[in-house]
Amino acid sequence: MEYQKILNQIEAELTAKQSTGQVASYIPELSKISSKKLGVHLYCINSGHYNFGDSTERFSIQSISKVFALTKAMSLLDDELFERVDVEPSGDPFNSLVQLEYEQGIPRNPFINAGALVISDILISLLDNPKEDFLRFIQSIAHNDSIKINNEVYESEKKYSHRNAALLNLMKSFRNIKNDIEVVLDFYIFQCAIEMSCEELSIAFMIYANQGKTLSDGHQVLAPRKIKRINAIMQTCGFYDEAGEFSFRVGLPGKSGVGGGIAAIHPGQYTVTVWSPPLNPKGNSELGMYALERLTTLTGLSIF
Ligand code: GLU
Repeated sequence: MEYQKILNQIEAELTAKQSTGQVASYIPELSKISSKKLGVHLYCINSGHYNFGDSTERFSIQSISKVFALTKAMSLLDDELFERVDVEPSGDPFNSLVQLEYEQGIPRNPFINAGALVISDILISLLDNPKEDFLRFIQSIAHNDSIKINNEVYESEKKYSHRNAALLNLMKSFRNIKNDIEVVLDFYIFQCAIEMSCEELSIAFMIYANQGKTLSDGHQVLAPRKIKRINAIMQTCGFYDEAGEFSFRVGLPGKSGVGGGIAAIHPGQYTVTVWSPPLNPKGNSELGMYALERLTTLTGLSIF
């Protein structure tokens, strides 16, 4: 397949397209990013790397980090993890409080904020040096020791985290948070402030497309049965309250973040990451979704 030719066509289509999306501004530091940034990196198991645009420039991965955090937690725990967080799509915005109240503090899934905060709590309880160990985990699956957080984004989100603090307080009242709220919030904001490029995310996401193994050295990071579950959660819960629409249009498991990134996978075939900061009203990268829809259409390679 002529992947680079297909990417070039997608680039031409995206450049001609007028985006109506808005760059996230509720974390003030994120609003400083140019809305014109655009990059794609496709990493195929059989034929290697293809890309265009700003694919090597790092951006704030935000909620894409929730996939890595779940992976780390599932490497340390078995099914007992899912007593504290469910695996159902929420159909509500990512930072919504309402379901938590009537579902007794058990978040719908690990990719909405409430669920990710429970995963943060679990990692804090289980890791010796939570921040260092978690960053080290991402560096190892991305094969890149220079990956780090953006301090400005970290400080910026710290000033505007009232809603995440509310989620933590509510869950603590239901005894589903064990550590101090401030400590959990700090770890969660740290993980969201990690910066990676499309290329680095595509390399790190290869474990989800390759049965839990890195491609370069074949290291088994997580058992295939656990990878299957993470992919299922990405498919059903990876795109806020637009997971159905993403499945319908693109047909791949993936995860988006409010920094404008989307990382997606085709098991046994490829990983792909897109970055375009303007978000649609549901919080997903508008051009990112379009690019991935065109990729699965033009290659004929979606999971359906
Ligand atoms: N740090 C962001 C928040 O909690 C992440 C949101 C996202 O990317 O979905 O609001």
